[in-house]
Amino acid sequence: MDIELLQLRTKHPFIIARGGQSDYRTVWVRLTDADGHEGWGEAAPTRFYGETAESAVAALNFYGSALPEDPLDLEQAERRWETMLRGNAAARAALSSALHDLAGKRLGVPVYRMWGLDRCNAPQSTFTIGLDTPERIRAKVLEAEQYPVLKVKLGTDRDIEILRAIRDSTSKEVRVDANCGWTVKRTIRMLPVLKEFGVTVLEQPLRPEDLDGLAAITAQSDIPVIADESCVTSLDIPPLVGKVDGINIKLAKCGSLREAIRMIAIARAHGMMVMVGCMIESSLGITAAAHFTPLVDIVDLDGAALLANDPFVGAHIDGGQVTLPSGPGLGVRRR
Ligand code: MG
Repeated sequence: MDIELLQLRTKHPFIIARGGQSDYRTVWVRLTDADGHEGWGEAAPTRFYGETAESAVAALNFYGSALPEDPLDLEQAERRWETMLRGNAAARAALSSALHDLAGKRLGVPVYRMWGLDRCNAPQSTFTIGLDTPERIRAKVLEAEQYPVLKVKLGTDRDIEILRAIRDSTSKEVRVDANCGWTVKRTIRMLPVLKEFGVTVLEQPLRPEDLDGLAAITAQSDIPVIADESCVTSLDIPPLVGKVDGINIKLAKCGSLREAIRMIAIARAHGMMVMVGCMIESSLGITAAAHFTPLVDIVDLDGAALLANDPFVGAHIDGGQVTLPSGPGLGVRRR
């Protein structure tokens, strides 16, 4: 197993309700089998979920002592890592991705084909406009010309000004993510404003543990309310049933590709919408998540599209459409 730190830089500082920056570090993990096949994965650790690049490297070294002989022993390997050391979801997701990549390469099929999926069914991805001044927001909307759906970060004291800056510059579909930045009262005040500005989806207005608050908002909202920070793994879905309209799955939260597929099944069983999101990460991490996009309703996989120095080529969202590579495994290569 080889581990390498990746220094990623966004084109613009990427700011959300709880802060942000331009420089991000992720971890690239590589597994090699006896036939010389390589399986790749990326860990995109975030402090919000208790991980840093350093903790991810330490966790990867620990999990690396329990790699399966056969990369197709996916379920057992993922269960073992979870029991060995809990948390560290981004690190486990990198290994899960690397095993899926290796398994697909051995079989000579793309990961989405291993799951029986058709890459033509991947929906369009949103492109995110981070918090900024109205002038710079207008400039970013122009730069995002090729993307048909925008996601706007809110959760500030100038949310209406931001929405106005967006609407002044485009008539595109707009979705909103408040990243836990609102209260119930504020959200209920914002619902008619979101409607006025033609917003079609509201993601995580409240702090993660306020499920009753989310229920109160969902009951009054005309647009779907999606839980992101409130929904980390499949265990979080049953308590959210009837309280939100859908969930946002991220590999760095749930810790494995198989767990992501389980979350989709559980959400579907409860008639919930399914979204897939990402952290700021390269095309390697984005591609791992892109492989299950044919199963979801909403895609927000712009993490690599926001970068100035993406080291990989894989799935991309040029023109908004998620395009999966047709090569075996994840289908990712170095740029
Ligand atoms: Mg979100």
